Amino acid sequence: MIPSVLPTYSRADLAFVRGEGAYLIAEDGTRYLDFGAGIAVNALGHAHPKLVAALSEQASRLWHTSNLYRVPGQERLARRLVEATFADTVFFGNSGVEAIECALKMARRFHYARGEGERFRTITFEGAFHGRTLAAIAAGGQPKYLEGFGPKVEGFDQVPFGDLRAVDAAVAQTSAAILIEPIQGEGGLCPATPEFLRALRRLCDERGLLLIFDEVQTGVGRTGKLFAYEWSGVEPDIMAIAKGIGGGFPIGACLATERAASGMTVGSHASTFGGNPLAMAVGNAVLDVVLAPEFLPRVERVANFARQQLAALPSEYPHIFEDVRGQGLMLGLKIKVPNTAFIDELRERKLLAVAAGGNVVRLLPPLIVEEDHVREALRILGEAAAAFPARATEPEAA
Ligand SMILES: *Cc1c(COP(=O)(O)O)cnc(C)c1O
Repeated sequence: MIPSVLPTYSRADLAFVRGEGAYLIAEDGTRYLDFGAGIAVNALGHAHPKLVAALSEQASRLWHTSNLYRVPGQERLARRLVEATFADTVFFGNSGVEAIECALKMARRFHYARGEGERFRTITFEGAFHGRTLAAIAAGGQPKYLEGFGPKVEGFDQVPFGDLRAVDAAVAQTSAAILIEPIQGEGGLCPATPEFLRALRRLCDERGLLLIFDEVQTGVGRTGKLFAYEWSGVEPDIMAIAKGIGGGFPIGACLATERAASGMTVGSHASTFGGNPLAMAVGNAVLDVVLAPEFLPRVERVANFARQQLAALPSEYPHIFEDVRGQGLMLGLKIKVPNTAFIDELRERKLLAVAAGGNVVRLLPPLIVEEDHVREALRILGEAAAAFPARATEPEAA
C-alpha cells in the first residue's frame, strides 16, 4: 500500500523535534551536529533568535495579502539585494526552481521584446542541477531525473562543464542565455574557474546572450562572500537564489539587471505566494545578520579552519578519503567507499551530512558554526573512517 506521503524520497528513519543553532534534537532527545543544514538552507542554524523574533512578530500582524497590493517587506528586501549585488530588480518566488524558471523566462522574454523571439535556447552544463520542474530537469539534463516524464522541454543545449570550446560551438542564432552554477552543488562541488566564468561573460557580451548564475546553493554567504560570483569578479545578467535567503522559510528570488529584465512587463510573470509578508520578514532578518560587517569575514575564517582540518583526512585515512573540494562552508569530501553508506555511518555517530554526485560527501554547516563544531565533525569523520573498512568489506567477503 502506498504511504500517505508520496514515496519519492529515500529518507533516513529519523525525525527531529527541535533545533538549537548547529544541532538538531531527535524525538528520543539525541543531539545531532547538523552539517547538512537542510541542504544549505538553514544558513543561521536552527531557531536563531533574530529569525524567530522576526517571524513571530510578523505572524501576529499579517501573513498574506497577495501581489495585488504593495508588500513593503518585498520592497525593502529587494532594495537591499539590489544594493548588495549587480542587480537592479528582484522577483520573489517560493523555491529555487521557481527562481530558475523566472530566470529562464526572463532571458527568453528579453530577446522576444527585442524582436528576436527565435532566440529562446539556453546553454547548460553536464552535472548541473537546477531543480525538478519540467523545464529545470531539461536544463539540468540528467537522465535519471528526465526518465519517464515525456518529451524533454525544448530549448536546452548541454555541454561539458568548463569546456569553453564546446560552449562556443553550441552558441547559435537561437541562443538566448548561458546558465551555470558557479560551484556545482548536487553535481559534486565542482567549482567553475574564474577564467572560465570570465570567458563566458565575454562570449555572452560578444554574441548577445544573457549570463545566468544559479546561486540557489552558493548564495547568501555560503562560500564566504555574499554571493559566489564575487570570488571571480564576473557579474551575471540574471541570478537565481533561494536556499539560504530564507534561513528555512521557503523563499526564492530572481535578481536581474534592468536591461535583462526589460521584457518582463506587467502580466508577464506572477506567483500567488511569492514574497509574502512572512517570507519577507524572515528574508530581511537573514540579511540583517549576514550583512553585519563582522559576519562574512567570520564565515571565511571558520571555513579556512575547516578546510585546513579536512585537508589532513586523505593522508590520515587514504582508504576512505580521496580529496577535499568546494569553497567556504560548501565543502565536499570525495571518498572511495559508497558516499551514502558513509553518510549513514556519520549519522549513527550523530553527524549529519549530505550526498552529492561523483561520490562526494557534502558538508554544509550553518554559517554560524564555530571552530569547536568543526573539531567535533572532524572527530566523527575520523571515527567513521576508522570504523568503515571492517563493515564495508563484509559483503564482499561473504
Ligand atoms: C536546490 C537547488 C535548486 C532547486 O531548488 P528547490 O528549492 O529545490 O526548487 C536549484 N539549483 C541549485 C543549484 C540548487 O542547489
